[in-house]
Amino acid sequence: MRSAAPDTLERTAWAQASASTLAHHGACCDHARAWLLGMARSHDFTATDAFTYAAPGWLRHRWSWGPTRWPIAWCEAIRAKSVDCGVFAAFALEIFRAKGVEAYGGQVLRAAAEETITHWRRRWSAVPDAFNWLGGRVIYHEVCVVRVGPTELRIYDPTEGVWLEPELRAGHGAQLAIRAEIPQAMTWGPHVLVSGQWTEIAPDA
Ligand SMILES: [Zn+2]
Repeated sequence: MRSAAPDTLERTAWAQASASTLAHHGACCDHARAWLLGMARSHDFTATDAFTYAAPGWLRHRWSWGPTRWPIAWCEAIRAKSVDCGVFAAFALEIFRAKGVEAYGGQVLRAAAEETITHWRRRWSAVPDAFNWLGGRVIYHEVCVVRVGPTELRIYDPTEGVWLEPELRAGHGAQLAIRAEIPQAMTWGPHVLVSGQWTEIAPDA
């Protein structure tokens, strides 16, 4: 595998991790999920982008981003004040799928500045058994992969409320590798993603 950064896949746990899923107790979690989808439907009516692919940008206004203690169930995640990127991605996935959009859990490894990582490490140290998503200059992050054509994907980051740009290939915030549970090989901009495999994205020469 080509190395896009010294520690792109530095953690074995990253290579082995699958996209986060929320636990489901029963009726309490059914209600929580129904509430989320009801909220999503009402927000869609005010969306400015095309209705079908309207992204749930409201999620990041409803929840702040912070450590989550896993495993977490639907009813607990809905009640939480802050959630991590795994919960954001699970929420977005459920919302896209409820609209009939073909969507998949996605994982990215992203370049990040060392001082930013140091700050995040301090915040996450309060949750000692949390997934170690922080590397030296690379972080693990979860997103939502949306099929928009026969073999074309777009990638939505519900934590930040943005569609990722496939052309941004260097510097802070650039995606270095992507993995998605897609049913077949598909493209994201100029990149070809293979089902279930980490695909490294070469930085600009
Ligand atoms: Zn529950």
